[in-house]
Formats: sequence, structure tokens, C-alpha cells
Amino acid sequence: MTHYTGGCHCGQIAFEVEPESDFTEAMVCNCSHCSMKGFRLAFVPRDQFNITKGDGSWSTYHFNKGAIDHNFCPKCGVQPFGYGKMPDGSEVAAINLNCVDVLDAAALPVNEVDGKNY
Ligand SMILES: [Zn+2]
Repeated sequence: MTHYTGGCHCGQIAFEVEPESDFTEAMVCNCSHCSMKGFRLAFVPRDQFNITKGDGSWSTYHFNKGAIDHNFCPKCGVQPFGYGKMPDGSEVAAINLNCVDVLDAAALPVNEVDGKNY
């Protein structure tokens, strides 16, 4: 288990995440929202994710069916994470790997997801 930390650009929001296995690939979705923001994502169960700074200080964007809380910093505009639910109802956090400290997200192999046609 690796302990990762990360946050938004200005430092108002910080998080820690302890996924069961290391982040070894990045999910890249081609939907209108993800492609605009250039996300490289990983999903973890909600209980492996913790806000360490700025809890609740974000703004939230909803679109489509509103299934995911796209939480972004109102100051710097960066979206470090989102909250959502898997089809079975379990709560997950979507981590923007570009916001994880140390991790070289751009070097990870990409797992392409066809969100546009989903
Ligand atoms: Zn910020």
C-alpha cells in the first residue's frame, strides 16, 4: 500500500489516498468534460481517500445525470478529485492523478475509456 498526497494548485485543498495497489495506469476518458480538463484518473473506494486540508471549501460541478460530484477549487480552478458511486452503489473517489504529488502521471500507461459513447 502506498501513501499518496496531493491537492489543488494553490494549496487550499489537500488530500491523501492509500489505494490497495500503486497507481500504475491512468484512466483517460474522451467525454466532453474529461477531455476539456485533461484528466488522468484513478478510482478508489471512498474510505481510502481523505481530505487533509480545505474540507468542503470547494465548488461542485454537475452535468449529465449528475452522478459525479466534480469538486474544484474556487480559487485556482483545479479539480483534484470527484465523488461518485459505482453501479453497485458503493462510494468512490475519482483521483485526478495530475494532482498527486511526486507521481509522474504523464508517464503512466493510459487506459482509454469511451465515455463519449457510454
Ligand atoms: Zn486551489
